[in-house]
Amino acid sequence: ALKCGIVGLPNVGKSTLFNAITQAGAESANYPFCTIDPNVGVVTVPDNRLDKLTELVTPKKTVPTAFEFVDIAGLVEGASKGEGLGNKFLSHIREVDAIAHVVRCFVDDDITHVSGGVDPTRDIEVINLELVLADLESMERRLERLASKVKGKDKDAIYENEIVQRLVTDALSDGKPARSLDFDQDELKIVKQLNLLTSKPIIYIANVGEDDIAEVDTNQIVQKVRDYAAKEGASIVPVSAKLESEIAELQGEEKDMFLEELGLNESGLDKLIRAAYDLLGLYTYFTAGVQEVRAWTITKGMKAPQAAGVIHTDFERGFIRAEVVSYDDLLAAGSMNQAKENGKLRLEGKEYVVQDGDVMHFRFNV
Ligand code: GDP
Repeated sequence: ALKCGIVGLPNVGKSTLFNAITQAGAESANYPFCTIDPNVGVVTVPDNRLDKLTELVTPKKTVPTAFEFVDIAGLVEGASKGEGLGNKFLSHIREVDAIAHVVRCFVDDDITHVSGGVDPTRDIEVINLELVLADLESMERRLERLASKVKGKDKDAIYENEIVQRLVTDALSDGKPARSLDFDQDELKIVKQLNLLTSKPIIYIANVGEDDIAEVDTNQIVQKVRDYAAKEGASIVPVSAKLESEIAELQGEEKDMFLEELGLNESGLDKLIRAAYDLLGLYTYFTAGVQEVRAWTITKGMKAPQAAGVIHTDFERGFIRAEVVSYDDLLAAGSMNQAKENGKLRLEGKEYVVQDGDVMHFRFNV
């Protein structure tokens, strides 16, 4: 499953949010996960299409696709120099696909703010600077390692060296994240391999007080986060971590009623999952058999064999063909047989690029 790391200064509401996530995961009992790592919370991805497919196919079971949140507590000012639990936490961030940065937007005099009053812009800059410094250090080490190869006129090393130099000079040593630079497709391949913290996609989570969640659009403190995110081309999701922990204990109708009372149409967690999905360019495809209707996560642009490989590596290796019908066509037809009669069931080969909402059946050799 894809991983999203939760970072932020101490006392901003990370644990509260993470507990809500874990609780929500525990409630979705039909997801077969068996994680024992206390720092990982698995949540299922909400998707109405899965419910509709279940009604249509009436399978024995339905399995949503999942998303992992990793609690990366301990990132404080000075982490890049080994303060707090420093480098250990930075290395955890290297392993995630995206970063969710929790920013304190709630005002509460009883809860100490590590750097004084509530000021999201300053908080964001503190954390981002640590990430930039960590990247700067690792890129300087990289340059040292490349130096002898560059001297020996190694073409690949020279190419990479140029990119790393640009990262250092134009972004990192100016305190700017790697994602602030534009690279072409070939350069991006190299940048990806460098595994930089500041090139990971980022979402800012504005943690507001429970009483403020209904009016986040006009909240001045949240606006500061919005402005910062806009400058970076990042997205923002306002949540009330405290409220989410209450919502996470509810399910089904009870949950819907509670949300309605609050004037919300979905929980902050659901919004967060959706934002992460968009940010990461993720698609969902379905398999729909009488045994099981199931949603699978892939990245945009994946071809049929790779998408099959998400189910099992054997499916990718032995891929022959895929039977595909789009969710809309299947729903309009009302049954797989009718979709077939309507000519909506296609046979696709190795080069087929899977679309969001495709309902797939793979044929493969074992
Ligand atoms: P962490 O250090 O970032 O993990 O922060 P915690 O989740 O432990 O939260 C720190 C304190 O802030 C706890 O006492 C929480 O109950 C409190 N807190 C979290 N979110 C809110 C909120 O929206 N409003 C208020 N008033 N307190 C909150």
